[in-house]
Amino acid sequence: MRLIFLGAPGAGKGTLAAGISIKYAIPQVSTGDLFREAVKNGTELGRKVKSIMERGELVPDELTVELVRERLGRPDTRSGYILDGFPRTMPQAMSLDGFQSIDAVINFQINDEGVVRRLSGRRICKSCGAIYHVENRPPKREGKCDSCGAALYIRDDDRIESIRNRLRVYKEQTEPLIAHYRGKGLLKDIDASRNVEDSLAQLQPILQALKTGR
Ligand code: AMP
Repeated sequence: MRLIFLGAPGAGKGTLAAGISIKYAIPQVSTGDLFREAVKNGTELGRKVKSIMERGELVPDELTVELVRERLGRPDTRSGYILDGFPRTMPQAMSLDGFQSIDAVINFQINDEGVVRRLSGRRICKSCGAIYHVENRPPKREGKCDSCGAALYIRDDDRIESIRNRLRVYKEQTEPLIAHYRGKGLLKDIDASRNVEDSLAQLQPILQALKTGR
């Protein structure tokens, strides 16, 4: 299964992609995670993208497409993958059309108020990347990861100015992709305004149908 998870930041794409990736044994390819990893490791790519990411702007298309092309060339993607946070612009979508055929695009729908609430309460594990929310998905011990016990942190771009910027960028650059994929007959809408369990309940039958080819 080759899937794209599309939607505003904070719609729950990453949380669901992590679960689905395990269930269907296909890798989650998150461009945001790949860029954050590069920043953490201080690589050349990391140095190029650090300040762009902190402002909540988009990394240039060529760099992003190259990163994804390289990642999708690795053997673990042979039986499928979930693209989480890519493509995010029309040029990225057009490039992807040129080298991959996608089975479905899941469109996570959520309004602006929901995005701000989700992102401002988001906490992430420094060590294993597990995602929490102070109200909707609190860790058992405050500030500590349930799975590995490491400290939780707030992403630099989950501060309010960056959140507003990311929403603006999403509307201008990413939203047009909805019509692009709807036109190709690939789009499946999900109401992502409630909680993870609710989104998952909508997603499961879609993936099951894709898997069985119905
Ligand atoms: P995310 O974790 O998906 O919210 O991504 C965090 C940040 O990484 C974004 O705000 C962008 O700066 C950068 N980024 C991630 N994916 C892309 C992409 N497909 N195109 C450009 N920039 C991206």
